[in-house]
Formats: sequence, structure tokens, C-alpha cells
Amino acid sequence: MKIGFNEGCNRFCENHSVLEDLKLCEKYGFDYIDVQSECLDRELPEGKYTLEDLGDFFRTHNLKMLSYNALVFFNMKQTQEEKDAVMAELDEIIRRCEILGCKMIVVVPSMDIPVQATLDEIKADAVAVLRQMVEKVEPHGIKLSIEFIGQPTMTINRFEDAYAIVQEVNHPLVGLTLDQYHFHGMASSFEALEKADGKKIFVWHLNGTENVPCGAAYNTDEKRLWPEEPGDCLDHKRFADTLKKIGFEGDVCTMEVFRPDYYKLTNEENIKTAAERTRAHVEKYW
Ligand code: ZN
Repeated sequence: MKIGFNEGCNRFCENHSVLEDLKLCEKYGFDYIDVQSECLDRELPEGKYTLEDLGDFFRTHNLKMLSYNALVFFNMKQTQEEKDAVMAELDEIIRRCEILGCKMIVVVPSMDIPVQATLDEIKADAVAVLRQMVEKVEPHGIKLSIEFIGQPTMTINRFEDAYAIVQEVNHPLVGLTLDQYHFHGMASSFEALEKADGKKIFVWHLNGTENVPCGAAYNTDEKRLWPEEPGDCLDHKRFADTLKKIGFEGDVCTMEVFRPDYYKLTNEENIKTAAERTRAHVEKYW
């Protein structure tokens, strides 16, 4: 099992830079990185580096880019203009992925939509949008990985709903991201996960979380913890054992926390800690 770093861990650390993350991830032995789109969108205009600088780094080092994280709010768009904007954003992300040597785009569902859609309507819409997206990524061999978000206002907020969409699309380039925090956040079903085809899980986001009520407004990404920190309530053995049992082939365990306390660390301390914790987790459970 290889180890990955997601820039959610350190995106707000002082003087954050994606290029520095690549160097530090290489230094501390990460095999992969999920690059956060918000970091690129903030830092590219600041001139901290160019996409070509990042692409050159990946070409000359062991570290590889696991995913472009993310195209957010891809579904349930109400007007043609909004739908076109999603496809235009996808075109731009594909252009960037070609420079970065990245073969996966994480897509995040929309939240707080203006219509009171049923799960069936959300599923039909997501399937149609993903099929349109597949036509764009297929020539590039880039995968799409839906990340369900375990918050009440999100349109796709449980594992089983995301999985049903992936099954319906039924395309080798379309799978999902299993983020442990999000799985717990809206009480996704382990029974559903146990019945799933592990090959459809493209990305595994590792984290712990405080034990706060499902659906509470304060149950946010900020409650995430390094796994097995005091207060972490997740059953890590069950997650790992289930992924093994269902044939997860992603071959990477990626640390992703968004805890404000961890943003007080230096970038180096943050990435060093993330590497130690991810490696320890893999050694213990995999
Ligand atoms: Zn995640």
C-alpha cells in the first residue's frame, strides 16, 4: 500500500506553496499527492510557480499526482449557462492535468440547491452529467472520482447514493472517493460498503474525526483529526478490513484532514507528521 498526501492537510499553513509541498512530500517519502484546486487557483495568479514547474517536478521525481482535487459542484445545475460553465471548467482541468501528468479528477457534488430534488432526480442528473464528462476525459485516459460529502446540504452525501450513481454510469473511468470522515458524517452504511465492488473505489481518504452528531451544523471538516488522536471515534480496522475484503485496488492510502490547529504547524512539520501517521496506519492495518 502506497501513501498519499492531500493538501487539505496544510492548505492554510503559513506561506503555503504547491511546489514546496511537492518537495516536502518527496523528502518525507510520500508516493502520491492530491493537489487542491483552491491552492492552484490562489497561488498560480500570485506567480509562486507555473503549471509547467509542477509538471517538470513530477517528471523528474518519484512523487506522482494522484488526483486533481477537485471540480466542485458538478451536478444539479439549473440553467444551460451553469451547465456549460461546469464543462468549461472540466476542459481547463483536463488541460492542467495534461501538463501535470495527472490521470484522475475528483468531482464534488453541489450543495444548497434551489430545488427540492429527490434522490432519484439527483441520481438521474448526476448520471447524465458524468456521461457527458466521460466523453471529454476518455481521449485523455483520465478517471473521474465522485467524492460524496457527508453534510446534510450536499446533494450526494452518503456512500450508497454515490455508489448507485457509479453503478448506473457503469464506465471503467468513473468511480468514487471514499473519505472516512464523509462516510461517518452522514452515517453511510458499512453493509452497503461491504457489498460494493472495491474496484469502483478509486481514492481512499484517511482521517479520524471527533465524535459529534451526524448532520449537526458543527460537524464540519474542522472536526477531522489525524487517525487515532485522542477523541477520534472512527473504526479504522473496519474500514481497512472492508476495503481489503471488497478488493480495493487503488493501492494508495491518502491522508486528508482540514483541522485549523494543524494549519498552525509549518508546512514541513505538517507534511512530516502526515507521512508518519499515514505510514503507521498502513503498517498497522494493511
Ligand atoms: Zn476527501
